[in-house]
Amino acid sequence: MSNTLDIQQIRAQFPVLHQEVNGKPLVYFDNAATTQKPQVVIDALDNYYKGYNSNIHRGAHALADKATQAFEETRKTAAEFLNAETPEQVIFTKGTTDGINLIASSYGRQNIQAGDEIIVSTLEHHSNIVPWQMLCQEKGATLKVIPINAKGELIMEEFEKLLTANTKIVAVNHASNALGTVNPIAEMIEKAHTVGAVVVVDGAQSASHFDIDVQALGVDFFVTSAHKVYGPTGIGLLYGKRVFLEEMPPYQGGGEMIKEVSFDGTTFNEIPYKFEAGTPNIADVIAFDAAMKWVQDLGKEAIRAHEAELLAYANEKLSEIPGIIFYGTAAEKVSVLSFGLEGVHPFDIGMMLDARGVAVRTGHHCTQPLMKHLGIEGTVRASFSVYNTKEEIDTLVQGVARVAKMMA
Ligand code: PLP
Repeated sequence: MSNTLDIQQIRAQFPVLHQEVNGKPLVYFDNAATTQKPQVVIDALDNYYKGYNSNIHRGAHALADKATQAFEETRKTAAEFLNAETPEQVIFTKGTTDGINLIASSYGRQNIQAGDEIIVSTLEHHSNIVPWQMLCQEKGATLKVIPINAKGELIMEEFEKLLTANTKIVAVNHASNALGTVNPIAEMIEKAHTVGAVVVVDGAQSASHFDIDVQALGVDFFVTSAHKVYGPTGIGLLYGKRVFLEEMPPYQGGGEMIKEVSFDGTTFNEIPYKFEAGTPNIADVIAFDAAMKWVQDLGKEAIRAHEAELLAYANEKLSEIPGIIFYGTAAEKVSVLSFGLEGVHPFDIGMMLDARGVAVRTGHHCTQPLMKHLGIEGTVRASFSVYNTKEEIDTLVQGVARVAKMMA
């Protein structure tokens, strides 16, 4: 169905997709929550544990060398993936949430004072709200919120009005997990920099869809999670400008992050190790390398083109169902479709779709302030990935149509 990608050949690389759920072929549309893993990623984990499981950086033996090299290779791949200036500006974290907490705890505690302002948006995931709320509470700073219009887009004039000499951090997602809205981050970074604010971009929903160029964007911090990019859970990336990373205090203390320890005091290691205390998630870092290379080989432009085709098709077909309500109709979206049916609880729709083998997400999607703004409890979210097909969307549409009919 795609001009450039052989979707059946791609599907064949994902073992999990080839099963029945509730007696029906699995249709996996919960990709915004986590993507499935191709065989190369599973093999990378398997090969590490079977062939060279070892702790890294300190070992004076062959297995430790091999593991260290593979681990550091991922940092190089990640630097290329984001177009970071140098690999040491890539810090391995547990994921997006961990990355944001690292920035709030380290950069935030060092630089935020009473009276300062931090800006987030109505579209944020809880993980890009709560760490900033905690920081504001601790420091006596104020959290300000960029409003959205009826399509679920940020109101840029209001954002500009919020920017003042007191704005110290702007933390915004690149793409919304709940509505799919793609935010104009290049413009936002430029505007935030005019008042001297530092910009943190939550790339959890963008890294698998867009070519990210942190240098061209001029972004100060960029974070994402491997599991949203066909990689393993429990591992993520934090990119930071060198000037900030070098000035920032460590996030956690322990092994790896030190140069020298004595009871008179400790000197910290250089970046990136200063921020990587303890034995890291070696296997998953190594498998993340395979995931990024797999994505780069397909090409994000081709992935995005296929997903855009799926999104347009789903939009068109679902809009024919009586009582359908779409949430988020932004001009630019990633392949996330949030919807509901008049008078039907999203959870009931999710359950009935599950009975047909269709996996969607229902609820608030960790965006309760956004749901409150929309005046709803939650939505049904179908999110599409490179291995999804129009035939699978037909199954979704038939399921939703059936619910609409039953509930009419
Ligand atoms: N930000 C956005 C936009 C997300 O979609 C998610 C996960 O759904 C997160 C942050 C948190 O990511 P993680 O749970 O991998 O830390």
